[in-house]
Amino acid sequence: MALPLNDPGLLRQALLIDGQWLPADSGETLEVRNPATGALIAHVPKAGAAETRRAIAAAARALPGWRARLAKERSGILRTLYDLMIAHIDDLALIITSEQGKPLAEAKGEILYAASFMAWYSEEACRINGSVIPANLPGRRIPVQKAPVGVFAAITPWNFPAAMMTRKAAPGWAAGCTGVIKPASQTPLTALALGVLAERAGLPPGVCNILTGSASAIGGELTANPEVRKLSFTGSTEIGAVLLAQCAPTIKRTSMELGGNAPFIVFDDADLETAVSAALIAKYRNSGQSCIGANRFLVQAGIHDAFVARLAEETDKLPVGIGTQPGTAIGPLIDAAAVAKVEEHVADAVAQGARIVAGGERHALGGTFFQPTVLRDVPRQARIFSEETFGPVAPVFRFDTEAEAIAMAN
Ligand code: ADP
Repeated sequence: MALPLNDPGLLRQALLIDGQWLPADSGETLEVRNPATGALIAHVPKAGAAETRRAIAAAARALPGWRARLAKERSGILRTLYDLMIAHIDDLALIITSEQGKPLAEAKGEILYAASFMAWYSEEACRINGSVIPANLPGRRIPVQKAPVGVFAAITPWNFPAAMMTRKAAPGWAAGCTGVIKPASQTPLTALALGVLAERAGLPPGVCNILTGSASAIGGELTANPEVRKLSFTGSTEIGAVLLAQCAPTIKRTSMELGGNAPFIVFDDADLETAVSAALIAKYRNSGQSCIGANRFLVQAGIHDAFVARLAEETDKLPVGIGTQPGTAIGPLIDAAAVAKVEEHVADAVAQGARIVAGGERHALGGTFFQPTVLRDVPRQARIFSEETFGPVAPVFRFDTEAEAIAMAN
């Protein structure tokens, strides 16, 4: 069960509330499994509304002290956290790969990206300047001073478990806010490891609280509690809409990063090899489970066949496997539901006339592995044209004119 970490202290199976590592009130836990193997990695507490209320109260108590710190002190702590993330990059990457599935090289890339938010906001912490605005009356001035909004809540997804946490928390902490973080149930261990490092970096108790458990119970309290002044959420459009509605009665500030349907557009005059290599990254990074990943390929008629042929050829070469195996480019999908959605999208496109030119099926490795797939002649009525697939499927649509491509993209 234990992961072979250099620093085993990074694997926490507890809630972080007010500087203490605790079980759920009920003693209940949730399993964390490796999506590549199905192996049980850890148990984390199944917290609910009561633990969430205590975490919010702890954040509210920690707020005056943290807000009053000199900017350079907050900056220094964030910088130390950056340094610690870099120092522990191998362990953090192994935790991500083990609970999330992405290849180890991508996991390391994510830690660099995640840590960069600490570095950036440690610098920004010292530059939260005000301004003076010309007034509408003589002899007056309008000074503008920035202040922390208060306690923030961060609900993060499983596809970038480190980066989505630090991107939300770092600016909050830099500004003098305190927060409560709820990672996705599939990938709680990365957030908890970052909580360990946040403590070691010197974040005072209550500034960083982390809750694992029932998403609806924790989310319900985070959105209803009047002490929480800001919610930052990354996840599905459906849940985002629910959370916005739940935040309305207490008029919280919200930042919502929801689903996408990004087009990747290739014109006749594109350099074919550049377009293909960019397409491979845009599509297959994190097995297509990225909110900025290309969901649709719009390719102009003159280059269409050559692009499809080269993309299919390169796609067939991508090594599929367990993320810790050297050379793996495509790991598993996060869970069975993710595979089912990919399968449905491919079946629907094929039923409507699309042709499979690479992959197209579950991978022989079984479990949640799916072959990297290229579809051509996909009709625009196919679900894959308008719905996010979140998997390793590249559907190619043909267009003739620029105006047509822009209309399709939009
Ligand atoms: P995905 O489809 O990417 O899993 P979700 O929107 O279901 O996206 O999940 C994103 C985050 O939102 C996760 O941390 C998940 O646990 C959380 N979440 C899911 N349902 C709720 C809910 N009802 N209230 C609050 N958070 C939720």
